[in-house]
Amino acid sequence: MSRKVLVFAEEKNGKLRNVSFEVLAAAKKIVDGGEIASVLFGTDADEYVQALAEHGADKVFVVQDSLLTQYVTDVYKEAFLEVVNQFQPDVILMGHTSIVRDMAPKIAAALQVGLITDTIAIEMIDEKIVFTRPIYAGKAFVKKVSNDSLVFATIRPNNIAMEDADSSRSGLKIPLSFTPSNNALRVKVRDVLRKASKGIDLSEAKIVVSGGRGMKSKEGFEKLYELADHLGAAVGASRGACDAEYADYSLQVGQTGKVVTPDLYIALGISGAIQHVAGMSNSKVIVAVNKDPEAPIFQIADYGIVGDLFDVLPILVDELKVL
Ligand code: FAD
Repeated sequence: MSRKVLVFAEEKNGKLRNVSFEVLAAAKKIVDGGEIASVLFGTDADEYVQALAEHGADKVFVVQDSLLTQYVTDVYKEAFLEVVNQFQPDVILMGHTSIVRDMAPKIAAALQVGLITDTIAIEMIDEKIVFTRPIYAGKAFVKKVSNDSLVFATIRPNNIAMEDADSSRSGLKIPLSFTPSNNALRVKVRDVLRKASKGIDLSEAKIVVSGGRGMKSKEGFEKLYELADHLGAAVGASRGACDAEYADYSLQVGQTGKVVTPDLYIALGISGAIQHVAGMSNSKVIVAVNKDPEAPIFQIADYGIVGDLFDVLPILVDELKVL
């Protein structure tokens, strides 16, 4: 049964987020000869439209309005509903990003449909779209099906592989205008203060180097950056390290922090509490360094080094310098 699938494309720091392409790859698994459309807000850049088309979008709805250059929940919600109205999708897919976590429930409520959040896999079984999502902090997985006529789900970044671009494809750009209601205009963004972050975005990184309370101090934690630089990795932290003020909370990985699924996760001085594991257990390869051989992190690690991290860290950095 062919379907019309609508995919939200997100731009960040002047480029389309990888998750936009991952969600297009998910859409291709279920479209079954139907049509895939992307939605782009606040920019009409042709290179974005082309990139979305090369990754599977047949058309790209572009809502270019000065109000949409900054994220405001109700303005984005209303603009998105306008696109839904135009395209009449059977399925809506979005990346499970901070913006979407805020906006998607409001859109689902307005459309009077259910929302399946934070899914990590999508497949067709007996003509039904089946989503897999982790539960109990990643200890178990549940398969979910929507019985609504419009299926709406969010997909965790870094889980569904983005496909190679097909440069022979080009998509149809459809500019849309919309007029926000007075209600949506109650909130205005006056300024956006971004935390200065060193290097790579944690939630999209292919390699993450994380430190815990075992890093002992802020100065100790800083040593992680040298290893991260050599690996081209993002730096993460346990809540233990954040509570001890070694690292900023924006780096926290776990149940109440960021969920990461890199190819390689290196945990140094992290015990492996269930709340931390919830944010990183789907990493493809996990390496743990801990001086306690009984530390729970070793139960999920693919490679473990039992030792003092302050001895191990310089050796790792030296080895990488040679590469
Ligand atoms: P610790 O548990 O203190 O472990 C430090 C580890 O470092 C130990 O295993 C120790 O052996 C090792 N170590 C010490 N010195 C060295 C050394 N020199 N060399 C090598 N190893 C060394 N935690 C998160 O991380 N993320 C979350 O999102 C999160 N959410 C939470 C939500 C709730 C509701 C609650 C109750 C807790 C949450 N926590 C979260 C906290 C979590 O339960 C743990 O307390 C926390 O993860 C512990 O951090 P840690 O492993 O760095 O510290």
